[in-house]
Amino acid sequence: MTLRIGIGYDLHRLDAEGTFLVLGGVRIPHDRGFVAHSDGDVLVHAIIDAMLGAAGLGNIGQRFPDTDPNLKGADSLVLLERTKRLVQSADFSVVNIDSVIIAEEPKLTPHVDAMRQRLAEVLGIERGRISIKPKTNETVGAEGRGEAVSAQAVVLLEER
Ligand code: MG
Repeated sequence: MTLRIGIGYDLHRLDAEGTFLVLGGVRIPHDRGFVAHSDGDVLVHAIIDAMLGAAGLGNIGQRFPDTDPNLKGADSLVLLERTKRLVQSADFSVVNIDSVIIAEEPKLTPHVDAMRQRLAEVLGIERGRISIKPKTNETVGAEGRGEAVSAQAVVLLEER
């Protein structure tokens, strides 16, 4: 069996205008929102980059450029679905995903199960294969000051 691993990272700034964040495809109330061309879902963007990297298919900026007017305000789960099909076309399937979300606020742990469920549905895998770990940044750095939220992901693929 051939296994392939990929890593992904993303960060989006927050502004004072927003009323919610979208993370892992789940809408979470917050007094700030993402500054982004799409819905700004950093977790899904990190997972997409990890999947593309593992399959040797480039990166999210090449596949879904932020200059594409069709992607303005895009639901990142649609991009994840398209990434799944790209990866499947290259004869790979997802073994598991591990990820970290770095956000000082809001508290994300109550939303983790809903995120895992949404991602599992889109990817067509059991949610036990998807791990999401929220962390604060101990009040330091952009995430710690509440100016940004970032995410990191690793994905293992197997050749079918
Ligand atoms: Mg992004």
